[in-house]
Amino acid sequence: MIGTEIEHLIKLIGRLPGLGPRSARRVALHLLKNREALMLPLAQALNKAADVIEECPDCHNLDTQRPCAICASSVRDRGIICVIEDIADLWAIEKTGSFKGYYHVLGGTLSALDGIGPEDLSIPHLLERARDDRVKEVIVALNATIDGQTTAHYIADCLHSCNVSVTQLAHGVPIGGQIDYLDDGTLAAALRSRKAV
Ligand SMILES: [Zn+2]
Repeated sequence: MIGTEIEHLIKLIGRLPGLGPRSARRVALHLLKNREALMLPLAQALNKAADVIEECPDCHNLDTQRPCAICASSVRDRGIICVIEDIADLWAIEKTGSFKGYYHVLGGTLSALDGIGPEDLSIPHLLERARDDRVKEVIVALNATIDGQTTAHYIADCLHSCNVSVTQLAHGVPIGGQIDYLDDGTLAAALRSRKAV
């Protein structure tokens, strides 16, 4: 029989994304066996992060400063806003070093099934930002899933009333990809987004 405290720990760990009950038990045991080296520093880091990290009021990114370091930057291009579903997408794009505009984190996608409407995401706030005269382009960089694309179309429709051009990421053959291995949907999208060379 497992003690109540351990059971509680396993339950909490099991609520982390990607961890089932078996993985949660393994993580809990690993932490308990590495109390000094891992468990205590992790607990401290969690406490500190919960204390100092806040949501940016401008773009909904997370940072220790308000507005976040990206929104506070004066060297980035005020004319472009890149809309993404999640902060992980922002990190991925930042890592490429090839985007120098600003971001807007939606916090999810529209979903009739889960009852998520525009008000539940930061879509009204995005429209407000897009009405700023300095903004010339909004890149809708949402996932190529059904919900992602439905949300992208909805946002593009809403943005028509704002004086901005709306673009989206190209879909197609990944760098290093082989045509023979692509699924039909990706290959069809690549054909549709072909461009002159
Ligand atoms: Zn920000």
